Amino acid sequence: MIDPFGRHITYLRVSVTDRCDFRCVYCMAEDMTFLPKAEVLSLEELDRLCTAFVGLGVRKLRITGGEPLVRKNVVSLFENLGRHLGAGALDELTLTTNGSQLPRFAKRLAEIGVRRVNVSLDTLDKDKFRAITRWGDLDKVLAGIDAAREAGLGVKINTVALKGVNEDEFDRLIEWCGERGCDLTLIETMPLGDITGDRTDQYLPLSVVRARLERRWTLTDSEHRTGGPARYVRVGETGRYLGFITPLTHNFCESCNRVRLTCTGTLYMCLGQEDAADLRAPLRESDDDAVLVAAIREAISRKPKGHDFIIDRRNERPALARHMSVTGG
Ligand code: SAM
Repeated sequence: MIDPFGRHITYLRVSVTDRCDFRCVYCMAEDMTFLPKAEVLSLEELDRLCTAFVGLGVRKLRITGGEPLVRKNVVSLFENLGRHLGAGALDELTLTTNGSQLPRFAKRLAEIGVRRVNVSLDTLDKDKFRAITRWGDLDKVLAGIDAAREAGLGVKINTVALKGVNEDEFDRLIEWCGERGCDLTLIETMPLGDITGDRTDQYLPLSVVRARLERRWTLTDSEHRTGGPARYVRVGETGRYLGFITPLTHNFCESCNRVRLTCTGTLYMCLGQEDAADLRAPLRESDDDAVLVAAIREAISRKPKGHDFIIDRRNERPALARHMSVTGG
C-alpha cells in the first residue's frame, strides 16, 4: 500500500477496546461513556481485518486500546495473529499497555511470539501515580514490568511529559530504565479529547527537556528506529536509548508509515485529522475480502500529508474531539 505522498503503509495500530482500568487525567475524563458492546468488533472480526492488512503489506501490528489486556479473551486474538509471524508475513506483533495485567499475560504473550512491549509509566512515585491515573496502583504496574522482563520480553517505557507533574523525575526514570535494561521514550501531550482541566498547563516542550537532560547525561543522536515516530539518542551513562516523540515541536509526518484502526472498525489515516473510513460495513457485507480490500485501498488513497496539532489557549478546545483511547495513540 502506497499513499498519495509515496509513503509505504506497513504499520497498523489496532485499538481492541475503548475501555481502560485507569483514567489518566490527560487522556480520559473521569466519567467516560464507553461504547456499547454491540458496536465493538468481535475478536474474530478484528483478526479478519488485521489479516487483510497483512495481506496488503502491513509488517508490524501493534495492539492497543483503551487497555488492550482488559478485553476479554484478547489472548486468543494474539494467538491467531501469531500465525502471521510463523508464516513470515509479519515482522512484529506487539502491544502498548499500562502494564497492570502483565503479571497474568506476559508469559503467554512471549510464547505466542511477542518480543517487545511498550509500557506507559509517567512516574515512579506511588501517590503521583495514583493522582495521574486516578485509579491505578503503581505496584501492580511494576510487577507487570518485572513479569514481562522475566518472560524475556523487551520493555520500552513510554512517559508523557507533564509540566509541573513529572518533569522533576526524568533523571530518575533514565536511571531506573538503565538499571533494568529498558529504553525510555518521552512523549509530548497532544490535544486530543475533552478532559477535565487545561492542557496548556500540562504542555512541556521536549526541546526544553532535552536541553535540561544534557546537563547531566551524555546524549548522542542515533539513527535507531523502532518503526514509530520517536527520534532516539543514546544515553552514554546507561547505554540505553532515549526517545522523543514531539508532535507539537516537530512534525513527524513526512516518514509516517502507519494507520490506526479503532475497535469499531473505523480507520484513521492520521492521528491528528478527523477524516476516517468505516471498514466495519464492508467487513460485514461479505465473507469475501474483496469489498474490504477495496475499502482499505480507497482509505489509503486519502491519507493526508500530515497533521497540525496546536494547543489552543484562546478557544480552550482540544484540537480533536476524540480521546486518545479511541485510537490508542
Ligand atoms: N492503555 C494503554 C497504555 O496505557 O499504554 C494503551 C492506550 S494509551 C491511550 C497509549 C498511550 O497514549 C499512553 O502512553 C498514554 O500515556 C498516551 N496518551 C494518552 N493521551 C495522550 C495525550 N493527550 N497526549 C499524549 N499521549 C497521550
